[in-house]
Amino acid sequence: MVEPFLELDSVDKDFGSIRAIHDLSLQIPAGEVTAIIGPNGAGKTTLFNLLTGKFGPTAGQISFRGERIDGRPPHEIVEMGLARSYQITNFFPELTALENVRLAAQARYSGFAPQNFVSHYTDLDEPLEIAYDVLQRLELESIANEVASTLSHGQQRHLEIGIALAVAPDVLLMDEPTAGMSPDETGETKELIQELADDLTLVIVEHDMEVVMEVADNIAVINRGSLLATGSPQDIQSNEAVQKAYLGGG
Ligand code: ATP
Repeated sequence: MVEPFLELDSVDKDFGSIRAIHDLSLQIPAGEVTAIIGPNGAGKTTLFNLLTGKFGPTAGQISFRGERIDGRPPHEIVEMGLARSYQITNFFPELTALENVRLAAQARYSGFAPQNFVSHYTDLDEPLEIAYDVLQRLELESIANEVASTLSHGQQRHLEIGIALAVAPDVLLMDEPTAGMSPDETGETKELIQELADDLTLVIVEHDMEVVMEVADNIAVINRGSLLATGSPQDIQSNEAVQKAYLGGG
């Protein structure tokens, strides 16, 4: 039997009297791009917050490579190989791009990670080398020494991806990677996602359906906190329940 990779089993999440996630079971396969879509307020961000340990589920279980992760603090989940890039800017604006990524690499290097930390970097790799490596991968090496606050919106969003990559995760959760981007920046981000997918498992919350349909191997549609449908982009495009939810009838 193939070991499940990232899995939610009958998960509920309540905020007071609001049930943001309701009986959600979902399997996210290794090595693929899974997009999470759904109308505003459907529970997508809450799902990310549950996966990254920002808060625990009210009921149900979440596991990664067969190990329970619900109830673990966020840093332990990062150490297990699951990292996140944020929808809202999450860098130090007064530091350079390189310094921002180096700081993230330094956190891993300076020993917050346990012996079994999953990473393709070895202990011999210096944080500065890791940071250059990451910036090169993102084609940001030409702006390595520029102060983050002076970068374009697209470059800042890519820098956030770099900060997440500096800990060499196996799974990267990307929260609306193209939000607020120009068409050119969106195109570059689409290509970047496709490149990252070569050796990472990606889970993406994204509102731009063109991007989703091009980059996703699988799509999970969430509506009112519950799973409405899963399938390939083609399956989802022709799914009547999904069309109804998006047109406001669901
Ligand atoms: P959007 O696409 O607009 O970002 P979403 O699908 O990410 O929406 P969530 O932000 O997860 O949806 O919200 C789902 C529901 O949970 C909403 O009713 C929201 O008001 C509620 N909710 C989310 N986080 C909290 C919180 N920390 N406290 C109280 N309610 C919350």
